[in-house]
Amino acid sequence: MIPNPNKVTLLGSTGSIGVNTLTVIQHHRKRYEIIALTANTQVERMAEQCREWQPRYAVMVNEIAAEQLQQRIQHTAPDTTVLTGQSGLLTIAQLPVDTVMAAIVGGAGLLPTLTAVAHCQRLLLANKEALVMAGKLFMNTLRAHGTELIPIDSEHNALFQALALTPSELGQAGLLDQKGVSRLLLTASGGPFLHTSDLSQVTPEQACAHPNWVMGRKISVDSASMMNKGLEVIEACWLFAADTQQVQVLIHPQSIIHSLVDYQDGSTLAHLGNPDMKVPISHALGWPERIHSKVNSLNLLNTPRLEFLPVDPLKFPCLNLAIQAHNIGGTAPVVLNAANEIAVAAFLERKIPFTTIPQVIEKTLAEITPLPITNLEVILAEDAKARDHASTLF
Ligand code: NAD
Ligand code: MG
Repeated sequence: MIPNPNKVTLLGSTGSIGVNTLTVIQHHRKRYEIIALTANTQVERMAEQCREWQPRYAVMVNEIAAEQLQQRIQHTAPDTTVLTGQSGLLTIAQLPVDTVMAAIVGGAGLLPTLTAVAHCQRLLLANKEALVMAGKLFMNTLRAHGTELIPIDSEHNALFQALALTPSELGQAGLLDQKGVSRLLLTASGGPFLHTSDLSQVTPEQACAHPNWVMGRKISVDSASMMNKGLEVIEACWLFAADTQQVQVLIHPQSIIHSLVDYQDGSTLAHLGNPDMKVPISHALGWPERIHSKVNSLNLLNTPRLEFLPVDPLKFPCLNLAIQAHNIGGTAPVVLNAANEIAVAAFLERKIPFTTIPQVIEKTLAEITPLPITNLEVILAEDAKARDHASTLF
């Protein structure tokens, strides 16, 4: 019996990660208490979540959606206060809870996630774009507030486990040397187009049909272009104080090995498991304890043959664009991320072909001079500038 349940806020509760998080928490109802849920527009799903979890607060960023939610839950969750807009989201991010799951997609998650860092005890980070955009500022904010971070991205969660880290070690200069690590290996499924030779005609439906994972549409397209792996290289550099040369990407189509650490003594430690985000979510919620995820362990006798391939940089140019942006530094990753979001949205709306995505990113990076990041305002201004610029390129 746990006397004081762990108070949890979910930023992005209606998305793929949000729903998986609530599914895990369903199995541990005494251990966790849902304080606040947030979403953008999905009223029906949020109404259902409010009925089931009776949170103190629910945010719909979209105002019309907030009005609809208010009506939908007046009898089913009468004690839930509905808030709206950016201000509502930031109010929720300031609640002094034990755990915040940061699962908003894209740059929209930056401000609420960074705000939550300053107010919660433990941040579970799925919103990789926030770390890509704010890197050093993000890690400094964590340290300044003594907030624990545990990575949710399956590869980074795998590395966190294979490195046997504590959250306070994340981002410490010289971490990899101290641990005797020679290299981090990030695995990538290769996405739905690994064996497609001509990408110029592929559709949003094909891009979103990932072979191993069920995810939101933006990250699904990122996985298909391998920009997701590029963002993950940057994420790994910040979390594990690595440079891009210490992080190697390896295609592993079965998504059974979620990442590996090469140690200087010749040992390689890998994290294996069925590809299901409830595994890293359970690990992060429970850490340092282990809690049930209700995901089956691997049955190695039934596991497909494990394959490994190098990345074809001509077919997947987004990976190197991301690595270059991180190596340039300053606001270059902000520009990369913004241009990618604009290009991915245009592809999903069928305004540009899939192969135009890297072109938009490359041009935007070439045409906007990177600035040093001195504060959050620089990040927000360059993000807006890059979005405007990328939108003029198609
Ligand atoms: P999703 O699209 O399924 O859900 C996104 C959530 O963010 C929804 O709740 C939505 O309402 C909210 N949201 C969207 N736009 C918003 C806005 N402008 N303001 C406020 N809220 C907004 O996305 P997802 O697949 O759950 O991914 C969430 C994050 O987790 C992403 O950063 C993604 O890269 C990362 N991630 C996801 C997976 C996965 O398996 N889905 C794995 C690793 C990392
Ligand atoms: Mg990942």
